[in-house]
Amino acid sequence: MEYTTCPLDCFDGCSVEYEAGKKLRGEKAHPITQGYLCPHLNHWFKHPRLEKARVEGAEVPLHTALEAAITSLKETPPHKILFYKGSGNLGLMQGVTKLFFAKHGAVIAKGSLCDEGGGFGVEEGRGLNLTLSPLHVKEADVVVLWGRNPTVTNTHMLPALQGKTLIVIDPVAIMPSAQLHLPIRPRGDVYLALLLARIAYMEMLEDVAFIEARTEGFEEFKELFLWTPIRVLAERCGLSLEEVAHMLTLMKGKKVAFLVGTGVQRYAHAHTVLRAIDSFAAMMGWLGTRGSGVGYLSQSGVGFTNPFDVPSKEASLVNVDFSAYEVVVIQGANPISQMPASSVVRTGLGKVKKVIYLGLHENATSALADIVLPAKSFLEKEDLKASYGHHFLGRMPKLTENQNALSEHEFCTALMEAFGYETPKSEHSYIEDFLVSGAVEKKGRWQNRLYETWPYEKTFYTPSGKFCFLETFDDTLEAEGMWLIFAKWERSLNSQFLPHHVLHVPPALGLEDAQHIRLSSPYGSAIYEVKNDARLQKDTFLLHSGANDANALTPSFETQEGHSAAYQEMHVTWEHV
Ligand code: SF4
Repeated sequence: MEYTTCPLDCFDGCSVEYEAGKKLRGEKAHPITQGYLCPHLNHWFKHPRLEKARVEGAEVPLHTALEAAITSLKETPPHKILFYKGSGNLGLMQGVTKLFFAKHGAVIAKGSLCDEGGGFGVEEGRGLNLTLSPLHVKEADVVVLWGRNPTVTNTHMLPALQGKTLIVIDPVAIMPSAQLHLPIRPRGDVYLALLLARIAYMEMLEDVAFIEARTEGFEEFKELFLWTPIRVLAERCGLSLEEVAHMLTLMKGKKVAFLVGTGVQRYAHAHTVLRAIDSFAAMMGWLGTRGSGVGYLSQSGVGFTNPFDVPSKEASLVNVDFSAYEVVVIQGANPISQMPASSVVRTGLGKVKKVIYLGLHENATSALADIVLPAKSFLEKEDLKASYGHHFLGRMPKLTENQNALSEHEFCTALMEAFGYETPKSEHSYIEDFLVSGAVEKKGRWQNRLYETWPYEKTFYTPSGKFCFLETFDDTLEAEGMWLIFAKWERSLNSQFLPHHVLHVPPALGLEDAQHIRLSSPYGSAIYEVKNDARLQKDTFLLHSGANDANALTPSFETQEGHSAAYQEMHVTWEHV
């Protein structure tokens, strides 16, 4: 039996048993994986892969496509070359290609289509972004699922929730077994955090000793929650004072773990949302104390030296103007589907002389590419995965051969050689250096050294070593219409695997299942098949990840901080078609 690690963009970072010709299985002895994988990896071998390289639509040998890519790059001034990397595979070695593009003076797209807006807020308050793993959550009495649905995105958290008091804060009732569901309005999270702080303060529930010893800026935070009228706070989060007081009653005197998902921060003020939730938790002494904490998506390389984090010319990953470049190299990404304002993206990419695509699967972007290079899967190359949902690192040895595809390391090496630059070190060498820089081996498993004690138990990582409260924020969305929120789905992972066109609608609209409606936003429109969903409030539509054309509707500007996409910072209108 050999072992590897799931490469996918997911909290759980599963350890995988591999035996040639057999189904992949979860490692039983792994503290997080506990012997099972989710459907994404259970069906891994059923998903069709890109098998053949292509140049201008014609299938060619891999080396011919690689030579064509090199020729295009040689014929183009470096400042007219853009490198765009996605997160289809989260292994460390996926970043090695940046070495070539940085060295060559090309432009690298940077930013986030996921969590970095919220992550910025976490780092503002705590200095570094550490997570809560299932092993931490096991020690809590109460678990608050704040915009996170572990039944879909984090199934290896579920065993840790057993026997806990569960509180769900989500526009959608995602977990019927919860003791309390607070159906928050979309974009109401900052206001709920302030309302919780306000009521807790009125009831003198704050942890004075913790605030004095381990935090700074509480007086300013107090101003925020005391001077915003309580009626405004309740209206903006769409919850009654009784509901919020009930939540506090369930948490009072208990160890509380908050598990926060990405949906809460898909807005312009993304960083504020996480900082407000953190500030409420810190005020109550539920941050950095054993059994309690706020777990978001950690920065998975936190505490490590990343050899591929090299300075380069930059463009925004969220709203880069592709048409400004002559050659665009896209690796492990599907920007036509994943980036906001997809009609602009499609038009921009259409004007590029040569689009070069390196990836595993056929998708909207590969279909448009001039040169297509099949990528090696995680089983066919050496890599290492650091999870954003727990503190274990997983090795990914090369387990099988594939001569018809390229690893990112091979692609980078070929480019470096073609341009006469120093070639990269071996994968093994990068991986060992990375481990030594921030990990410790215990009982045969590599773990992030920052988690040797309870997260933040000894210190926060701010200059003062104290948690810094939220002091002010800017929130100015003015719009009319319905909310459109996005949630992950067990049959898809972002745009990977199973695209679909189903829109969940509130029954209050009186629409029939399977009829079609057109959604419009200031950025575009798209047509969907209707499915009534009684869990939705009357002003909210829901799309699952992978929905066709969803990004025809989304805005292309970045969050106020964190260079992230603000997918939900809009309202939509609808009409019959
Ligand atoms: S739960 Fe996540 S890490 Fe585990 S197999 Fe599924 S996608 Fe991979």
